[in-house]
Amino acid sequence: MNIYNDISALKGVGPKIQEALGRCGINNILDLLLYFPRDYEFTSVNVDMDDIDEEEKRVLECEYIQYERDIRTKTGKTLTTLIFKYGELIIKAKWFNQPYIKKTFVIGGKYNLYGKFKKCNTYLETVNPVIINDAINKSGIIAKYSLNSALTNKLLLKLVNQALEEVRISENLPRNIVSKYNFISLDKAIRSIHFPVTKGELEEAVRRLKFQELLTYSIKILMVKKLFKSNKRGIAFNICDEMIRLKEQLPFSLTNAQSRVIREILIDEKKPLAMNRLVQGDVGSGKTIVAVIAMFNVVKNGYQAVLMAPTEILANQHYKEIRKLLMNFHVDVEILTGSTSSSEKTRIKEKIKEGTPLVLIGTHALIEEDVELNKLGIIVTDEQHRFGVNQRSKLINKNNQADVLVMTATPIPRTLSLYLYSDLDVSIIDELPPGRQKIDTVFYEERHRKLAYNLALEQIKLGRQVYIVCPLIEENEDLKLNSVEKLYDSLKSEFFKEIPIEILHGKMNSKTKEEIMSRFKENNTKVLISTTVIEVGVNVPNASVMIIENAERFGLSQLHQLRGRVGRGQYKSYCILIANAKSNITKKRMMTMTESNDGFYIAEQDLKLRGSGELFGTRQHGDTGLILSDIMEDINLLKVANAEAKGIVYSEDEINMKFCEEVMKGLEKSSKYICFN
Ligand code: ADP
Ligand code: MG
Repeated sequence: MNIYNDISALKGVGPKIQEALGRCGINNILDLLLYFPRDYEFTSVNVDMDDIDEEEKRVLECEYIQYERDIRTKTGKTLTTLIFKYGELIIKAKWFNQPYIKKTFVIGGKYNLYGKFKKCNTYLETVNPVIINDAINKSGIIAKYSLNSALTNKLLLKLVNQALEEVRISENLPRNIVSKYNFISLDKAIRSIHFPVTKGELEEAVRRLKFQELLTYSIKILMVKKLFKSNKRGIAFNICDEMIRLKEQLPFSLTNAQSRVIREILIDEKKPLAMNRLVQGDVGSGKTIVAVIAMFNVVKNGYQAVLMAPTEILANQHYKEIRKLLMNFHVDVEILTGSTSSSEKTRIKEKIKEGTPLVLIGTHALIEEDVELNKLGIIVTDEQHRFGVNQRSKLINKNNQADVLVMTATPIPRTLSLYLYSDLDVSIIDELPPGRQKIDTVFYEERHRKLAYNLALEQIKLGRQVYIVCPLIEENEDLKLNSVEKLYDSLKSEFFKEIPIEILHGKMNSKTKEEIMSRFKENNTKVLISTTVIEVGVNVPNASVMIIENAERFGLSQLHQLRGRVGRGQYKSYCILIANAKSNITKKRMMTMTESNDGFYIAEQDLKLRGSGELFGTRQHGDTGLILSDIMEDINLLKVANAEAKGIVYSEDEINMKFCEEVMKGLEKSSKYICFN
C-alpha cells in the first residue's frame, strides 16, 4: 500500500464510509493521514473499566506488583506476563519473546505502559506495551477529529492506525534543515500528531509540520515571483478616450483612495510589461468599481477581460452590477457559471474563442478549466482563498502576457504582507466612501441571545433584514456548536414564527443558492441563516443586522468580513456577536470587534492576541491550503521559514534548485504543503 492508494484500500471502508470520508475531503491514504485532529482529549487519571476503549491506544501509569512465570507457547515463543495495578484495576501485561523485559521493572515501581488495553473479565490485558520514560501527563492523549454525521471518532482513529501500519512516509525536507532545527522525521511527526504519547511529543510534531508547511508555502510564493519576473512581457494598453465619460457617469464620485489606485493600475496597463498587482481594501471600500475601470480600458483596447469570483452568488451579483455600469458604453458583458445552460455556454465560449472583446464574469473553477481565452488582456480575481498563492501561480502559468489584478478584502498588517504577497505590487484603498455609518457591534454571552433576536425583530418591523451566521451546517458530535439547521428549527418554532426565514450553505447546489439569495435580495425573505458562504462580497443594502453565533470560533478578520455584509446602505446597522467567552483572550477578541470598525486595526489586534499558547487556536481548515498553520498565529515561525525559503530559492546550489522544483511539481498534484513527494 502507498499513500496515493484509494481510501477504499483500507479494511472497513465500504461505499457508505467512503462517501462520508469523501465529504471530509478524504479520498486517498494521504488525505487521511493529513486529516489532522482538531483537538485532543487528555483522558482523566481515574480510569474505570467502563472508560476503556479497546481500540484506542493510551498510556496508563501503573504499579508493578507481581511476576508470573514465563511460559512457552505452542508456536514456540516465550510469553512473559507481568502483573500491574492501576488504581483498583489489575493489568496483565504480556510480551512475546522478550524475557529480559522483566529486568526493566522493580516491584512497587511506577511505569507508563502505552498500548491498547483489552477488557477481560476481572482485569485488563495489554500485549507488547511500550514503556514510556518521558514524563507524561498521566493520561492517554486521544485525538479528536472533525466529523460528520456518518463518521465516528473511533472509526477515524482505527483507519488512521491501520493506514500508519501499512505505509511509511519518506522524508522530504533537505537534511541540513532537519538537523539545523532538530526536527523529528516526517514519518514520526505524522504518527505523533495522530497518536501522541506525550504532550512534548505532540508539540514536536506540530512544530515540524507547521514549519514544513510554511517553508513550502514561502517557497511557492518566491518561485511564483521568480517565474513572473523572468517572464514579464505584456501588452501595452492605451488609455481609452471614453475613460473620462465613464468616470463622469458613475452614480458617485470616486474617493481619493480609489482614484489613486486606479491611477496606479492604469500606469501598469500602459506599460509593455504584464501587471501583477494586489488591490487591498477593507469591506465596502469600493473595489468593484476599480476593477471595472481596469477591465473597461482593456476591452476598449480590443481585448478580453475576465473577472473571477469566488462564488456563484457573487458572480451573479457582479454581472448585474457591471452590466448596469457599462450599459451606455457598448461593452459586451457575459457570465459563465455552473448554472449557465449548455447552449448559452456554447454560445459564449464560441464568442470568446473568436476573440471578441468583452467582460467575462464567472467562477474561478469554471474559467480556469474550461475556457479558451484567445485575446485575454486582463484577469481580475476576487481572492478566493485568503493568503492563497495557488490561484496566482495558475494564472501566471497559463497567461504570461495578460495583466493580473488580485483583489482582497482581508486587511493585512504590513509586516505580514511582506511575506504573503512578496510576488505582487500592492495598492491599498485606505478610505471608505463618505457617509458610511459605524456599525454598532455588541457582544452577548450565549445566555443573553434573546436580546439579539429582539433587536432583529425590531429591525424587521422597520422593514430591514437580518443575517444569522453559524459555524456548522448540520449537527454533528460537536454539540457545543450551533448549526444552521438546528437554529432554523428552533427560531422557526419560537422567535420568528410568522417571519419568512431561509437557510443557505455551501453544500446546496448553485441553482438553489442563487434562488435563495435572490429571494433575500428582493426582500421576500427577512432572515437568512447561513454558514460563512456569505462571507465574501454579498451586497444587500437593506440588511441591517448581522448575528454571529459561536463567534469565538472565527478569526477576527473573518468576523470583520462577516460584519461587512451589513451597513452597506443608508440604514443604521448592527452586528451582534454571540460567544461562549470562557477565556480572557476570547473576551478581548470580542471587545476588539466592539471597539473598532477598522479592518487594519482589527488585523493588528488579531496578531497581538494570537500566539497565546493555544495549540490550534481558531484555525480554519482549507482556507489557504495550509492545514495546520495559521498565518496570523504562527507569524514568528513564518518569519523563520520565509528566511530559509529565500536562502533556498535564491541560492544557485543544485540540490536546492532540485528541491524547489520538487516542491513546485508536488504542489501541482496536491495543494497540501506538507507531503509533496
Ligand atoms: P468592496 O470593496 O467590499 O468590494 P464594493 O465595490 O462592493 O465594495 O462597494 C460597496 C458599495 O459602495 C457599493 O454599493 C458601491 O456601489 C458603493 N461605492 C463604491 N465606491 C463608492 C464611492 N466612491 N462613493 C459612494 N459609494 C461607493
Ligand atoms: Mg467586493
